[in-house]
Formats: sequence, structure tokens, C-alpha cells
Amino acid sequence: MTKVAIIRCEKNENRCPLTNCLKCLTDSKEGFAEYDNAMPAGVFTCRCPGDNVADLAKILKSKGAEAIHFCTCTFANKTDKGWVTGQGGFCDHVDQLIETAHAATGLPCVKGTAHLPKDYAVEIRK
Ligand code: SF4
Ligand code: SF4
Repeated sequence: MTKVAIIRCEKNENRCPLTNCLKCLTDSKEGFAEYDNAMPAGVFTCRCPGDNVADLAKILKSKGAEAIHFCTCTFANKTDKGWVTGQGGFCDHVDQLIETAHAATGLPCVKGTAHLPKDYAVEIRK
């Protein structure tokens, strides 16, 4: 069993309650496919410009998180052809946030959660 945390973007906090993120986590699908048996360790919200991410990541680790995922909507967006990269998501510097979270905790930090864009290979900072 792996305890997995999620950091989402404040730009989406009032529109999506992480429904697909949590479903994929508990089903070990999409961005969580590497886990045989994952359970949620907690969810936090990033606030622009992301200065809170290191502290959030440390708290998630202190609560038992063994990996931290950043939501797919931070780097991809939904089109009539499905979710795609290349047109940007909510965050233009999510890679930097992932690096920050990893540096603060040493935990694997993963770019992606639900509805991964076609041809996107999950990036893991570890
Ligand atoms: S990745 Fe999808 S399910 Fe998760 S918060 Fe973003 S829009 Fe919602
Ligand atoms: S820094 Fe990026 S992920 Fe964090 S709230 Fe701002 S746009 Fe969203």
C-alpha cells in the first residue's frame, strides 16, 4: 500500500473537487498506475505563485505521504479532442513546483493524476 498525496491548483479549486483525481488514485489508474494499492494521504491547494509548495509538501510528508502528485490540469487542458499538452494548463511553471516539492521532501513528485493526455509519459522527479 502506498500513501499518495495530491497538490492541486487554486485556479481550479472552486470548479473541480478532484473527482477524477481521487477515482484514478483509488483505482490505480492513469497517473497512479504504478501503484498496486494506493490510498489518499491528503490534498493541498497551491497558491500563486507557488511559494507555499515547499511547506505543503513537507506537511504532506509528515502526514505519511510517500509520493506527491500534481494535477493534470496544471499542465494540460481539455479540448474537443480530449486532454492535450502543448496549449498549457493552469500553471506555466509546474515543473519548477515539482522540483521544489521534491527538494523539500525527497519524495517522488509526479506530474499527472487523472485523464492523462494521449502520448504523455508520466514524469516522475525522484
Ligand atoms: S486533474 Fe482533472 S479531476 Fe483532477 S483537479 Fe484537475 S480537472 Fe479535476
Ligand atoms: S503557482 Fe501554478 S499551480 Fe500554483 S496556484 Fe499558481 S498557477 Fe496554480
